[in-house]
Amino acid sequence: MAAAEGWNDEDWARLRTMEGLGMVLVPVCAPDHTAEWAGCRSPGKVPIDLATGHHMREWTARRGSVSGLDLDGFRRVQESRARMGRAPFGVGVLTGRPLADGRRLVSLDMDGAEGLADAKRLLGPARAPTMAYRTGSGGWHFLYAVPGDGPVPSRSDDGGHQGMALQGDGRQTVVPPSVPVR
Ligand SMILES: [Zn+2]
Repeated sequence: MAAAEGWNDEDWARLRTMEGLGMVLVPVCAPDHTAEWAGCRSPGKVPIDLATGHHMREWTARRGSVSGLDLDGFRRVQESRARMGRAPFGVGVLTGRPLADGRRLVSLDMDGAEGLADAKRLLGPARAPTMAYRTGSGGWHFLYAVPGDGPVPSRSDDGGHQGMALQGDGRQTVVPPSVPVR
């Protein structure tokens, strides 16, 4: 099945690989969420409760109740949305959470050439990310596994779209194959 807007088998296999590494996946609202709810201020980026379709609460706690996504059920939801002509939900991964090997996940988000240059300087050539991908705004996200002890900080140099942010405890980052949001 190759629906133009749907996710293919390769996409789902990639999510299963991420799940196998211990990443906590969460569905996020569709990029056109404001069409059905004007209160959404970050369409395509907010975790949702699949049972209600509303933004999820209480997902930011480091040891919160969110334990991950039933990918089979989520696939059925996405296929149902595609049949109804609705944009697919996205998917995000909770950062700061332990992975299967005890390390924890952080995301380094960079926008612009300066941010990328800064990250390369900080990380050095030997530090290989677990996963890297381009974002809708033309930046990069790099996911890293870091030692599991102690807090995983979250920082943002400007809170905006030029520069670098580190997503650690209590954060979430949208991952492929989610529709890019600018
Ligand atoms: Zn939303």
